[in-house]
This record gives sequence, structure tokens and C-alpha cells, in this order.
Amino acid sequence: MQVWKFGGTSVGKPERMHAIRDLVTANTGRKIVVLSALSGTTNALIAISELAKANSATETEQKIADLKTHYDSFIKELYSTPESLQKGQQIVENEFSYIRSLVKVKAFTSKQDKEMVAQGEILSTQLFQVYMEEKGESSVLIPALDFMRIDTDGEPELNTIEALLTATLAAHTDKQIVVTQGFICRNPRGEVDNLKRGGSDYTASLIGGAIRAEEIQIWTDIDGMHNNDPRIVKRTFPIRELSFEEAAELAYFGAKILHPSTITPAKMRGVPVRLKNTMEPDAYGTLIANQTTDREIKAIAAKDGLTAIYIHSTRMLNAFGFLKKVFDVFEKYKTPVDMITTSEVSVAVTIDNDTHLEAITADLREFADLEEHDHDLSIICVVGEFKADNEGIALKVFDAMKHIPIRMISYGASEHNLSILVWTKDKNTALNALNERLFYYEDAMKSIFSAQ
Ligand code: ADP
Ligand code: ASP
Ligand code: MG
Repeated sequence: MQVWKFGGTSVGKPERMHAIRDLVTANTGRKIVVLSALSGTTNALIAISELAKANSATETEQKIADLKTHYDSFIKELYSTPESLQKGQQIVENEFSYIRSLVKVKAFTSKQDKEMVAQGEILSTQLFQVYMEEKGESSVLIPALDFMRIDTDGEPELNTIEALLTATLAAHTDKQIVVTQGFICRNPRGEVDNLKRGGSDYTASLIGGAIRAEEIQIWTDIDGMHNNDPRIVKRTFPIRELSFEEAAELAYFGAKILHPSTITPAKMRGVPVRLKNTMEPDAYGTLIANQTTDREIKAIAAKDGLTAIYIHSTRMLNAFGFLKKVFDVFEKYKTPVDMITTSEVSVAVTIDNDTHLEAITADLREFADLEEHDHDLSIICVVGEFKADNEGIALKVFDAMKHIPIRMISYGASEHNLSILVWTKDKNTALNALNERLFYYEDAMKSIFSAQ
């Protein structure tokens, strides 16, 4: 069985949903089809929650009405029979009356927030299932809330997901296509929760891992993982093959095409992940598996919103237990550390979540001196196969970065990652400079010398 996930732009227009049906039914073999919300819906639902919290009743109602109008016209183009249209209208009426009931709740807490944001995937999957039925396809919708589980730390419980999903699937062996929602899940209190923004990729990978699928396919609006961020860098190209480790580093360090945790369950269970383009289904895309190719430097990604904390030991850094005390503080506040550098008496770390920054720094000050921390930083991550005997990689990277101030450097922890911390204002310049130096310089040199 394969798992195919379609993102927001891939389901965002009626004709795109038609194309998804064509794709998933084009070849035989059972598939689990994971759908995101229609593009723009999740943002709209978050905006509705914010307006509701701000008690802006008129604006809230207007925003709900605008979103509903979008769905009213969407279903008119989606279906071709009056029966299907009527079913679609019923779904839209039900969901929007639920959305209206949510904004009326007086104490609008994170519980309502999460129920609200879940409505996007709940809508898209129901509408798609009706379309599949209209076309006479062998398809069933299974609610992700019946099997997707996270623990108290928000981490998915793969074994529980496996047990619940296997039981659900056993009840539908007669169906070729099993449709479900990306992104949404239940937490240990039984409430509706989610896997964070972009989480439908993670759903697909969790499902693929849980059922030990043949393959997980992530269908989006670009022909695979590119060597650099195509929104920022002028010339980029798709990478045909990546190892699990390389893809995991790229996703974690900001390549938006994949949710940061997507690769983990696939790698754990050895399930290949293929990235495909819905607009260009014949393009090769990117295959992520155990293999890798020879190319030393594969890709670059960047992650924004980092804060650097500079910690000085009042004695020596290597004084017994100092680093343990530092990391105990981050553990206490469940704040992951992204990058670490050390000197004889100091350690600098970066975090991407500064919710507990004040509490963290107060605790650290009990046994260390702290310098003023820096905000508005970005990590740039160069990913590839950096074997210990590879020469010259650092030279190429720093040659590209010669005019850009560098705050921190990390290299050697894994064979796949060289990370550099820069001010966010310099990120675009750095990404473009690295792109030219690492991917186009040698070709440019060759053509200069061959022309002479
Ligand atoms: P979906 O809605 O299908 O989940 P996303 O918008 O989350 O799609 O991810 C696809 C987008 O990721 C692309 O349109 C592209 O702009 C962006 N992107 C950022 N970095 C990369 C990269 N290295 N390779 C490919 N796409 C990237
Ligand atoms: N709809 C969710 C979001 O926009 C999940 C996803 O698209 O992956 O973040
Ligand atoms: Mg996405």
C-alpha cells in the first residue's frame, strides 16, 4: 500500500481536486490519500479565531461569511450532479454552523483554537470523498481523529497510531482509496489537536511508517526538493536523490517543502519518500531513501526566528557538570536547542522558541554569567556528504560568505551538515552567494578555461 499526500495548493481549486482523482486512480494498488485544507483556509481559520478572541463580532462574522462564499462557489465547480452538489452544500452548511458555534464560546481557549483550525482538513476531505463517490470510485473516508494520537509533549505515538489505524483499515479492505485528513490528531485529553503548521506531510509519514507502506509520496506545487529556497534564490534545480539524513537536515533547518519532522517516521521504518509535483506529474521529483549520490554538497536551507544565548561559566566551562546544568535548564522548559558552540569558558546556544526565554535566562543566571542575547538570527544549513577526508568544503563555504558577518559556525557533529548563524537581514544575500559559489562556480570556471 502507498500513502499519497496532497498539499493546500494541490487541492485548492476544483480542477486540482479533479486532477487528484485522476492521479490516484490512474494506476492500480490501494492507496491512503492524505489531504490538507484548501490553500488559504488554515490561515483564514486562524484569523477567525484571532478576531473572535479580540471580541470583534462584526469582523469575525464577515470573515466567516467570506470563507463560506469561497466554499459555496468551490463546490459548484467541483461537482457535476445535483445530488453531489446537495451533499456538498450540506457539508459546507454543517461545518460553517459549527465554526459559528465555536466563535460564540465565551472563554475562547486553545481548545477552541485547535477545533477551529481542524475544520480546514475536515472540509476538504469530505468534499473530496463526495466527488470520488460521484465518479463511482471505490473510496472511503476515515477520520484521522480516530487514529492519530500525540502524547503530552505533542509527540506522535507511532505504536498507538499503528494499532488504531490497522484496525480501521481492516474494516475497509474492499476499498481501493482510503481518504483521510492531514495535520489533525487527538491529544491525551481526547481533545482535537494538530501536528503544527505544515503538519499534513508529517501525517503522511506517520501513516506510512505505521503501516510500513511501500512508499510515501508528498505531492505539492514544485518538482521536488530544490538545492536552495526557490522563493529567495534565482537559479535552483531539483535534486533527484537524497538520503534520509540529508532530507531530515534540510526539513529541520527550514526547507519549507517538508514539515521539519516528516522524515523521522519514514526513516525509522525504512519507507522511501518521494516528492512529486501535482502540476507536472511526469517530472521525476525527489526520492528520499537510504541511498545517496556522489555529489558532495547537495542543498542549502535556512531557518529564521532564532535567538542566541551566550553563557559564561563563572569557573571553567569544563568544570565538572557545567554543561549538564545548562542543558537541564533547556530540558526543564522543553525548549530544544538548535546550534551549540563552545570556547574554554563560554557556551553559546540558539533556540527557535523563545516562549520561556525569561525563565530560562533567570535559571541560567543562578550559576552562570549571561551576555545580552541576540534576536533576529537565521541558521543557514549546507547539507551533503561530508566525509572526514573531504577537503575544501569549508573553504568554498567561507569564500562565499566572505562579505557576510557570521555569528556562529557548527561543523562535524554529523557527516551531513555545516551550519552557519547569520543576521536574518543578511540571509538572502548569503543564500544567493552560497548558491553561486557551491553550485555554479566550477561550471563557470570550466567554461572560462575552455574558451581560452
Ligand atoms: P504544500 O501546500 O503542498 O504543503 P508547501 O507550500 O508547504 O506546499 O511547500 C512547497 C513550497 O516550498 C514550494 O512552493 C517552494 O516555494 C517552497 N520551498 C522552500 N524551500 C524549498 C526547496 N528547497 N525545494 C522545494 N521547494 C521549496
Ligand atoms: N493545513 C495545515 C497548514 O496550513 C497543514 C498543512 O497544510 O500541511 O498548516
Ligand atoms: Mg506544506
